[in-house]
Amino acid sequence: MTDPDCIFCKIIAGELPSDTVYEDDLLIAFRDINPVAPTHILIVPRKHIVDNNAFSDEDAVIAGAMFLAVSKLAESEAIQDSGYRLIMNTGPDGRQEVPHMHLHLIGGKQMQHPMG
Ligand code: 5GP
Ligand code: ZN
Repeated sequence: MTDPDCIFCKIIAGELPSDTVYEDDLLIAFRDINPVAPTHILIVPRKHIVDNNAFSDEDAVIAGAMFLAVSKLAESEAIQDSGYRLIMNTGPDGRQEVPHMHLHLIGGKQMQHPMG
């Protein structure tokens, strides 16, 4: 399932370039175009799922694959010991900009505490 107007679907289809660092049958992971830290990777389901609210029972395997990709990428980025932050923005209050569900993997520097 893809959305022809979706920027991440276009990246997945190879119609737009990306710095892809991991892919499998369920996911693709590429570097954020506007990184906020030395490691800033977006882990994106190949299936066009708009946001976490649209996540269904049949998608549960995708969630598992996303977290397995995190641990693989943390190792390949050599940030598994220094640590990292995972963020999934949802909807307007979450400041989600791209309506294709994705997980941000951010590391390589110490982040500010999210609660201020
Ligand atoms: P959101 O706010 O939806 O959670 O985050 C969307 C992220 O996608 C942003 O961090 C933004 O920099 C990134 N982004 C937007 N367009 C592109 C693109 O065309 N390529 C890549 N690699 N990242 C993008
Ligand atoms: Zn999409």
